[in-house]
Amino acid sequence: MASDSSATLEERTDSPAESSDQESAVKTARRQLEDAAAHLDIDPNIVERLKHPTKVQEVTVPIERDDGTVEVFTGYRAQHDSVRGPYKGGLRYQPEVTRDECVGLSMWMTWKCAVMDLPFGGAKGGIAVDPKSLSEAERERLTRRFAEEIRHVIGPTRDIPAPDMGTDPQTMAWLMDAYSMQEGETIPGVVTGKPPVIGGSEGREAAPGRSVAIITRETVDYYSRDLTDTTVAIQGYGSVGANAARLLDDWGATVVAVSDVTGAIYDPAGLDPRSIPSHDEEPEAVMRQDVPETLTNDELLELDVDVLIPAAIGNVLTEDNAGAVEADIIIEGANGPITSAADDIFTRREIPVIPDILANAGGVTVSYFEWLQDINRRSWSLQRVNDELETEMLAAWSDVCDEYEARDVTWRDATYIVALSRITEAHEARGLWP
Ligand code: GLU
Repeated sequence: MASDSSATLEERTDSPAESSDQESAVKTARRQLEDAAAHLDIDPNIVERLKHPTKVQEVTVPIERDDGTVEVFTGYRAQHDSVRGPYKGGLRYQPEVTRDECVGLSMWMTWKCAVMDLPFGGAKGGIAVDPKSLSEAERERLTRRFAEEIRHVIGPTRDIPAPDMGTDPQTMAWLMDAYSMQEGETIPGVVTGKPPVIGGSEGREAAPGRSVAIITRETVDYYSRDLTDTTVAIQGYGSVGANAARLLDDWGATVVAVSDVTGAIYDPAGLDPRSIPSHDEEPEAVMRQDVPETLTNDELLELDVDVLIPAAIGNVLTEDNAGAVEADIIIEGANGPITSAADDIFTRREIPVIPDILANAGGVTVSYFEWLQDINRRSWSLQRVNDELETEMLAAWSDVCDEYEARDVTWRDATYIVALSRITEAHEARGLWP
C-alpha cells in the first residue's frame, strides 16, 4: 500500500514562520555566500556566478481531480550549480513553494553536497500545492504529470530529485516510474529516497537524524564534555528529531524534552525516546505521553539544556527569542531554523551553532550511496550504509574543525568556507565556457 504523503513535522523545513526578521531563502543564501566569500581570497566573478542559478524550470501541472474538474498547479525545478557533478536535491509539495524559495534552497544543496565532498551540485524544486488536499490518486497524477514536464532536465547524470517536505518514497516511486516508462528502460538512479524494493537504500529515511546525532556527539566532545552528562532538547519529533533523540539516548545523553506541532513534553530526569512514537509512526503522539510536565514549543526552545536541536521547521529562532535561549550549543536539525538576526545574537552571545548544511547532510549523503547502488545494480546492507555514513560525517566534521580552528569565524562560516573552497576550485579548474 502506498504511504501517506502528508508532510511529517521534520520535513516541513524552511517553511515561513511569522517573524519580524524573516527573509526569503534566496536572500539568506546570497548573504551567507557573501559572508563566507569575505573570508576567502576568491575570484569575485565566481561569487557572482554562484549568486545565480544555472537554470530554473517553471512548469504548469494540470491534473484531473477525482470529481472530473481540472485544476492547474505551478511547479519548479531550480538547478543552481553543477560544477562538481549532477544537480541534486529534494522536491517539495507545499502551498508556499515559490521560484525564489526553490532557488535559495538549491543554493543550500550546492553547499551541502560540497561540505560532504559528494560529486553533486545543488537543485531544489516542487509544486505549490497542499498535498493533504489531494487524494492519493490525485497526488499520483500530479507527480506523473510533473515528471513529464521536467523530464528533459532531470536524469541520473543530470539532476536527481529526492523527497522533501510533503513528498515521500512513494512520490519518488511514481516519478521514477514515469521517467523510466518514457525512456523505455528502468532507471532507478533518476531519483533517490525510493522504497528499497525498487532500488532505494536501506537507512535513507533515518539518515538525516543519524547525522544530526553524530554531529551532536562530536560537538559535545569538541567542547570537552561527556555525552553521558549532556541534556538535550529537541524541537520536532518527525524522522529527524526522533532518530536523533533515539541515537543520542542510546549513546548516553539525557533527552529531557521533545515536541511536535501539538506541544512539548519535559522530564528533567530524561525521557525514553524509543517509547515515544515519531510523527511517521503515530502522528501527534508526543502530548499523549504520560510525563511530569508539558511545555509549549516556545518554552522548549528556551530550556536550560546543554544542547538544543531545532529539528522541525524553518525560522523558529528569531531576534524575538534568541536572547532567551539558555542552551550552551545549538545543532540545526531542520533546514534554516535560525534567522540571520538570531544568528548574529548567538554569535554575540558566543553560543556555538552547528549549521544545517553539515548537521542534517546525512540525508543527501545516503542519497549518494543510493545513487551508487543504483548505477552499480548492487545493494548495500544497513550496516554498510551506517558505517560509511559515519565515515563521511567524521571526515566532513574534521574538515570543518580545521577551518574553525585556523580562522576566527563561526561554525557556520567555517562550514561555508569548506564548501565554497571546493566549489570555487572546481570553477577555477574548469573555467568559463565558451
Ligand atoms: N531534501 C533533503 C535535504 O534537504 C535531501 C536531498 C537529497 O537527498 O537529494 O537535504
